[in-house]
Amino acid sequence: MSSNNKIEYIAREELESLQFRRLKDTLERVYKSSPFYRKMFKENGLNPSKFKSLKDLSLIPFTTRQDLRDNFPYGLLSVPLEKVIRLHTSTGTTGKPKAVLFTQKDIDQASELIARSMRMTGAKRDDVFQNMMSYGLFTGGLIFHYGAEKLGLLVIPAGAGNTERQIQLMRDFKTTVIHITPSYALYLADVMEDMGLDPKHDLSLRIAYLGAEPYSEETRVKIQDIFGVDAYNSYGLSEMNGPGVAFECREKEGMHLWEDNFIMEIIDPSTGKVLEDGEEGELVLTSINREAMPILRYRTGDLTYIYPERCRCGRTHRRIARLKGRVDDMFIVRGVNVFPSEIERVLMSLPEVGRNYQIVLEREKNLDKLRVRVEVKGDLFNGSLEHLRKLEDRIRTRLRSELMLTPQVELVEAGSLPRTTGKAKRVIDKRKI
Ligand code: ADP
Ligand code: ZN
Repeated sequence: MSSNNKIEYIAREELESLQFRRLKDTLERVYKSSPFYRKMFKENGLNPSKFKSLKDLSLIPFTTRQDLRDNFPYGLLSVPLEKVIRLHTSTGTTGKPKAVLFTQKDIDQASELIARSMRMTGAKRDDVFQNMMSYGLFTGGLIFHYGAEKLGLLVIPAGAGNTERQIQLMRDFKTTVIHITPSYALYLADVMEDMGLDPKHDLSLRIAYLGAEPYSEETRVKIQDIFGVDAYNSYGLSEMNGPGVAFECREKEGMHLWEDNFIMEIIDPSTGKVLEDGEEGELVLTSINREAMPILRYRTGDLTYIYPERCRCGRTHRRIARLKGRVDDMFIVRGVNVFPSEIERVLMSLPEVGRNYQIVLEREKNLDKLRVRVEVKGDLFNGSLEHLRKLEDRIRTRLRSELMLTPQVELVEAGSLPRTTGKAKRVIDKRKI
C-alpha cells in the first residue's frame, strides 16, 4: 500500500460513512437543482432530511434508461450550464442515445478512477498506452485517455479501426498497454497473422484492458495467449462516467467496484427486490461523487452478482462478477432462456473454434430456430469434410448438454463473419423483422 492508494484499502466502516456523507450531499444537490429529481422527490413525499442511513436509499424509486431519454438533454442536470464542460453519450447499442454531462471536477474524478484502476493492474509511467476505443461521444476514448495521462503514461490516442495503422503504431512505439474491445482484439490478431506477423513476438504488449461488451473467461484466456498479455476486465457505462466503474485487480477474480464513487445494489429485475450479496440480478448504481448529473438508483440492465468475500488483494471495495450480459440480451428459443455469453463460453472452450461467431434466430412455420455460425481455426476448413461434421456434432452436443439448446451449427471459414472495431453485434434476430 502506498500513500496514494489508501482509499482502496479503507476500512469498510469508514467507506460506508464516506458513502453516506456523499449520498446526503448528492441528495441535497439534486433536490435543489435537478428538475427531474425535484419532481420525483415531491411526488414521493421525500426530502433529503428523511435519509438517516445508507439503508434509506431504498426509499428512492429507480431511475431508468427511459427516464434519461424522456428528460433528454438537460432534465437531470444539477448545476448551471456554465459549469458544464463536456458531453458524452452512450453508444446507443440499445435505442436512442442518452446524454451525459460533466463538470471539470467530474472529468477529474473520472480520470482519477481510471488512473487508480490502471495503477492497480501494474501500469506505470514508462508504459506506452495505445487506446483503441473510439474517440468522440463514446466515453471509452476520452475518459480512459485522461486517466492514462493522469497516471503519466505515454498515451497514443489511436481510436478504433484502421487496423494496419494500429499495428504500425504498436510496432513503431513499442506499445506495452492497450485498451480494446475483446472482439476487436481477436480481429486485430487475425489481421496481423494475415500480414505474416505474430502478435506475441512482433509486438511488445504486456497488459490489455478489455471491456465495453460482454465476453467470456475463455475469450480472455484466448486473448492472453495470442498476445502474451495480462488481460483485465474493465466495466463501466456512460451514465456513470464511462469506464472505471469496476475493474479487475491482479487476482483477476471479479471487478472491484469503486464504492467511494458509487453505491451498488443488486435487484431482481422482475420485482425490483434488493438481493443479497452472492445472488445474481441486475446491477443498480447510484453516483455519489458527481456534480453535473448524479443519477440515483440507476437500473443498468447489466446482470451480475456481488462477491460476498473480501478479495485476496486486501482491497475493501466489493467485487462484481463478470457481466453475464444485459437483461434484454437474453433471448428465448423454444422455451429456453439463453444469454449470448453462455453460448460464447461453450464455443470458446473448444480448441478448434476460431475467433468469431454469430447467433441467428429465425422463425419457420411458427417454430423458433436457432442457428449458430462459428468460425473455425485457420486450416481446419480446408481439411476433410468428415472432420468438420464431427466438430459440428461436438458443438451441438455441448450446447445441448450445457444449455439445453438444439441449434443448427454452421461452420464457416476464419475471417468470414462480419467484424466491428467497436462493440460486437452477436445476435441477429430475424423473428423481429
Ligand atoms: P450503450 O448502453 O449504448 O452500450 P455504453 O457505451 O455506456 O452505452 O455501454 C455501457 C454498457 O456496455 C454496459 O452497461 C454494459 O452492458 C456493457 N459493458 C461495458 N463493459 C463491460 C464489460 N467489461 N463486460 C460486459 N459488458 C460490459
Ligand atoms: Zn482484488
